Amino acid sequence: MSYKEPAPIKNQENPFESMMSRFDEAARILGLDKNSYNVLKSPAKAVIVSLPVIMDDGTVQVFEGYRVVHSQAMGPSKGGIRYSMDVHLDEVKALAAWMTWKCAVVGIPYGGGKGGIKCDPRKMSKGELERLTRAYAGAMRDVFGPEKDIPAPDMNTGPQEMAWLMDEYSKIQGMYTPAVTTGKPLVLGGSSGRVEATGRGVMVAARAAMGKLGINPSEATCAVQGFGNVGSISAKLIQLQGLKIVAISDVSGGYYDPKGIDIEGAIAYRNSNGGTLEGFNAERITNEEILELDVDVLVPAAMEDQITKHNAANIKAKLIVEGANGPTSASADLILNEKNIMVVPDILANAGGVTVSYFEWVQNRLGYYWTEERVHRRADRTMKQAFEEVYAASQKYGTSLRIAAYIVAIDKVAKALAFRGVF
Ligand code: GLU
Repeated sequence: MSYKEPAPIKNQENPFESMMSRFDEAARILGLDKNSYNVLKSPAKAVIVSLPVIMDDGTVQVFEGYRVVHSQAMGPSKGGIRYSMDVHLDEVKALAAWMTWKCAVVGIPYGGGKGGIKCDPRKMSKGELERLTRAYAGAMRDVFGPEKDIPAPDMNTGPQEMAWLMDEYSKIQGMYTPAVTTGKPLVLGGSSGRVEATGRGVMVAARAAMGKLGINPSEATCAVQGFGNVGSISAKLIQLQGLKIVAISDVSGGYYDPKGIDIEGAIAYRNSNGGTLEGFNAERITNEEILELDVDVLVPAAMEDQITKHNAANIKAKLIVEGANGPTSASADLILNEKNIMVVPDILANAGGVTVSYFEWVQNRLGYYWTEERVHRRADRTMKQAFEEVYAASQKYGTSLRIAAYIVAIDKVAKALAFRGVF
């Protein structure tokens, strides 16, 4: 099919290049052999499909859908599906590679993949979204599979989309196949604790990093950019650790209150306000200003390329914990390092989500379901161990936590490749 790559979004650096520049640096420090480097630098598979959907007004609209499998060296590829007008091939390629590194950092037996559909879900009805999701599941029938490639929620997708996807795939297979996707509703084989898992992992990572920096949670302030699943739950759980959350934001803008924002109240407000914080009672700031507030901890949990060479010098936080994937561009890393700001990178900080996805897949295959307490305990332990492993690598190699996380991940994936002998 003819395919034209859309122009990048304003101010955005190419996310795949951002991923590659970190990969290159870690590969160099690790002394990665040329063969493994060559295998890992390009995605194993990239599928682009056209998805015709009958809209409510009777017209047919054709959407573009993507699935990129970066690597299956460690196991079936794993990674979410996002619905957004910003979806484009280089973004999905970067996100797929990040999933390979993320799964390896936390030591779960998966490779990395990512998918997306270029659409504006806010402008679509539930019926249109269902038909779109089913069309995507059908088009990707040969890509997906519990032992092949396992999707999950990402930006603007959640349990409902996963339920449609699982149902469509199960119909095609002629049998109930819950392990084809994770992040499903609880009644359909979802896992306890999956909805909170990413935010909870962000909190665990933040707590571990604050420990290293000697930040006392009950005296610290925090700003959280993004108020979707990851941002709102991170904010709530970080607040429960004693930090004062002075600012939050979503697509409607930022909300600042130096006395501290009641996050439970903000979540209730968002839920009763059509899913947005618009009109929330606090001083209005922008999504750019929230990043530059004088706080101890900053959690970017919105989207890619929020901290770039244009604003990195203005960041005042001592600690950044990346709830989103790729919120910091590679060119900003250098500036943050010079400023001595500790950054817990995305592939570590937000790995709690895919960790509990793994637990969900295990439970689906066992047909035996764990208590929420067990899920939390195991996920917290996984996050703490991964943080300590990455921290130790950063001490050993004298690098940032980001490059250390890549080193830990690439080392594991390269070893798997060498044992399998894929060359
Ligand atoms: N979309 C989430 C991520 O970026 C979860 C992926 C998964 O659970 O497979 O980590």
